[in-house]
Amino acid sequence: MNSTMQNYQLTIGAILRHGQMIYGDSTVVSVGSAGRQSISFADVALRAKRLAAGLRALGVGPGDRIATLGFNTQAHLEAYLAVPSMGAVLHTANPRLHASELAYTIQHAGDRVLLVDAELVDAVTAILPQLPTVEHVVVVASSANAERAAVPQALRRSVDEHATQYRSYEDILAPAHSAAPWPVLDENAPAIICYTSGTTGEPKGVVYSHRALYLHSLGLTSAASLGLSERDRVLPIVPMFHANAWGLPYAAWFVGADLVLPGRDVRASAMCELIAAERPTFAAAVPTVWNDVLHYSTQSPVDLSSLRMILCGGAAVAGSLIDEFEARFAVPIIQAWGMTETGPLAALAFAPKHLHGATSQQWRARTGRVLPGIELRLVGDGGELPWDGAAVGEIEVRGPWCTGSYHHDPLPEKFDDGWLRTGDIGAVHPNGFIQITDRAKDVIKSGGEWISSVELESALMAHPDVVEASVIGVPDPRWQERPLACVVTRAGANITPQALRGFLASRVARWWLPERWSFVAEIPKTSVGKLDKKALRARHASGALTVHTWSE
Ligand code: AMP
Repeated sequence: MNSTMQNYQLTIGAILRHGQMIYGDSTVVSVGSAGRQSISFADVALRAKRLAAGLRALGVGPGDRIATLGFNTQAHLEAYLAVPSMGAVLHTANPRLHASELAYTIQHAGDRVLLVDAELVDAVTAILPQLPTVEHVVVVASSANAERAAVPQALRRSVDEHATQYRSYEDILAPAHSAAPWPVLDENAPAIICYTSGTTGEPKGVVYSHRALYLHSLGLTSAASLGLSERDRVLPIVPMFHANAWGLPYAAWFVGADLVLPGRDVRASAMCELIAAERPTFAAAVPTVWNDVLHYSTQSPVDLSSLRMILCGGAAVAGSLIDEFEARFAVPIIQAWGMTETGPLAALAFAPKHLHGATSQQWRARTGRVLPGIELRLVGDGGELPWDGAAVGEIEVRGPWCTGSYHHDPLPEKFDDGWLRTGDIGAVHPNGFIQITDRAKDVIKSGGEWISSVELESALMAHPDVVEASVIGVPDPRWQERPLACVVTRAGANITPQALRGFLASRVARWWLPERWSFVAEIPKTSVGKLDKKALRARHASGALTVHTWSE
């Protein structure tokens, strides 16, 4: 017997059409240099079609990669909708990467066109010579005039020298009448590529299919998760260049929830002002943002009364943050867990039913339960471990929005018989609640973005007076984690943290520079001679390391 169901393809185009046809009067508010601008879904959809036609006129065809380098803006949303729907692949490049890594990701993805926010053109100017695949740089600004004015001479010159064509975003949008219908696409075709930082080596590309993004979007609208609907106004503070702003732009568009896109400035003062003015019902950001809001509220009046829920994740969320928000603003913070490789949303920490008060709060400060659609198992050295809240192992997941490999990089050690090894270590309670306690991967997550300890170490080792270096993540009240550099110096060398920071400054992104330094006689080693970071972390936790703090 065969199923009688239609073979309907789950695509971004289907999401686009639904939002446009059913919720055409929902709105997108976008913050740019010219202030806040509001536009209807119907008009955004029309502009997405004009963008697709414009990109086609530049020679973009099926499977070609188009990169965005930008903040959360209307134009970024238009690219989210247009690029996958025309059969091309959107690479949401990360402007927080060091220039060499950014260039690496653009080359690795093979991007032909870059859509760049005017504020980020300098970053492109610096790396354009390393980007032979790039044929067009399209500069985006919040108004057509500002856009033309914003293109610096340096960019024009560097564009000329490398035969790359400069375009302005508003200029490439084709006239409405010339826009062609959207093509019919296979749901398994690639739609978006995002890069994530691993323990070693270069960033790794996760390629989302249309089907994965469609199902993830439905997952977010379910009452079992965020329950997004037309009644919501969604403020994604988490960047659109990091794991698709947790999938919120697509999910909101699908159900006609208004979108409030904050642009570049996401400091607490700007966010509080935006929330008071635009009255979103739902906002999402890493813990650093909400910690900053809390701190800001001690000095200035803050009105968060429009929010029915805050989504917070990307790093462990402290129970005290959840409690403070409840007490001060009566707004529930719901913790989310996931990773670029898992769509990204994989688990949410709603309290189990029938629990109230302190017990309920305890569960909410744990990592969460997997969403319907995601499967989970806990694995130790000897195989699968029980869900008893005590056994500790690595969390492995599988599901329709989990990756099964990396772009041009199979990395078999990251997968286990069809399951994704998350590198997150913890226990699972009998009710399915995950409690992450540690990370197997050697990366430091600072304010929601990754710092590679391995890269910092090799940059430090390049210093002639450094014999050995090991960098570990240590808890930080504002950024959740910051790097602590433990350094063994050459005998007789007299070297300061300041000098080492200066040495690192040209080699790594500025925000990677460690503030905490410890000069040690030796770095502990494991039985096989590897740097024993576990032992180093334990020494730090017990106060056995002398730490000098230095920053500018
Ligand atoms: P990314 O791919 O950049 O989104 O980072 C994913 C990683 O962030 C996960 O594998 C975890 O290590 C960490 N992470 C995300 N959410 C949480 C959370 N709620 N608690 C603890 N760690 C988290």
